[in-house]
Amino acid sequence: MKPMGSIPPGFVAGADGQLLIGGQSCEALVAQVGDTPLFVLDVALVRNKIARLKAVMPPALRIHYAIKANPMPELVNAMARLVDGLDVASAGEMAIACAAHAHVSFAGPGKRDRELEAAIAAGVTLNLESEGEAERALAIASRLGVVPKLAVRVNPDFDLKGSGMRMGGGAKPFGVDADRAAALVRHVIAKGADWRGFHIFAGSQALDAEAIAETQRETVALAARLSDEAEAAPPLVNLGGGLGIPYFPGDKSVDIERLGQALTQTLANRPAILSGSEFAIELGRYLVGEAGVYLCRIVDRKVSKGEIFLITDGGLHHLLAATGNFGTVVRRNYPVAIATHFSAESVEVASITGCLCTPLDRIADQIEIPVAHPGDLVAVFMTGAYGATSSPERFLGHGPARELLVNC
Ligand SMILES: *Cc1c(COP(=O)(O)O)cnc(C)c1O
Repeated sequence: MKPMGSIPPGFVAGADGQLLIGGQSCEALVAQVGDTPLFVLDVALVRNKIARLKAVMPPALRIHYAIKANPMPELVNAMARLVDGLDVASAGEMAIACAAHAHVSFAGPGKRDRELEAAIAAGVTLNLESEGEAERALAIASRLGVVPKLAVRVNPDFDLKGSGMRMGGGAKPFGVDADRAAALVRHVIAKGADWRGFHIFAGSQALDAEAIAETQRETVALAARLSDEAEAAPPLVNLGGGLGIPYFPGDKSVDIERLGQALTQTLANRPAILSGSEFAIELGRYLVGEAGVYLCRIVDRKVSKGEIFLITDGGLHHLLAATGNFGTVVRRNYPVAIATHFSAESVEVASITGCLCTPLDRIADQIEIPVAHPGDLVAVFMTGAYGATSSPERFLGHGPARELLVNC
């Protein structure tokens, strides 16, 4: 038997023993959309999460949603009412975000001219990734006769300790190296742009509040140093994100009370040049990851060399991350349950797979669960972020998963 991550809070069984999501039984949710596989996301859980975060963070801190975590338009619309801004990474995401919120910023390497043009025309803040991109943005703005909103993304000299994905420290395709950032700020100001400040993103998926707090202290110090060097006070400092969620056995949620206290102190002690600046954090998975559940149906139950396999109609074409195929070194089990017997005791060890013809398509490896048969539903938790749109949906031609929001 192998361990799996803990089922996040907010999921209970109904009177009939089935998993309830947002108060509705999993079979009722499947009936609503007509078939499996299905992503269900309980927006009430997202609202609670944001409320708890706002309660502990400095009151003036802006909270942005990085929509690449889950760009489903209905969800982005719901998020727009709950956060202070939306961060996007392509023109496609920008179109969804601009329809939902007035404050949109666009980061990401390789922005094409037409993406820069659409952003400038829409009044979106561009987080500049390079000097070359700055030149192209300035030329496009001047052709359009518009003052562009430009922030400088900095590739910091530090990274977020313990983060699942390092985005700073060393040579990177993201942002401008810290030692050239002030010169770029001076340049865009001299060219008449509306300089919006700095964007400094040092990493992602960290669970250690102290490590995140330390990165935030370093980020504020770096923003102050660069502002002094550029002799310009930034309107906004986007401190990046980094808050992870506990996917795996032994993982613990970020201690946000501690993080909130540390950030409150960091901002209270900030250098004078940042005294009039606003601050933002941009979060993706932290806001939506735990609120989403993927439901798929068991199609076959078989035994191979004494091992039980439950084969479902879902798979890595929707769950690249949950199956351990999205940037993980060692495959570990996400929290998974038999949704139709959610309150039943775990009595046997089985592996749960998807329906794709590849050994990579393993949803759970040798976990202890109740006895399940064809027709039962499997729930894969922690799938509200980096699910449908981060997976090779067309691989093997099974088609997309359905998506449903509840308590919206
Ligand atoms: C992906 C991304 C995020 C969100 O990351 P999460 O780990 O989902 O919180 C935030 N900011 C930038 C610049 C990103 O590229």
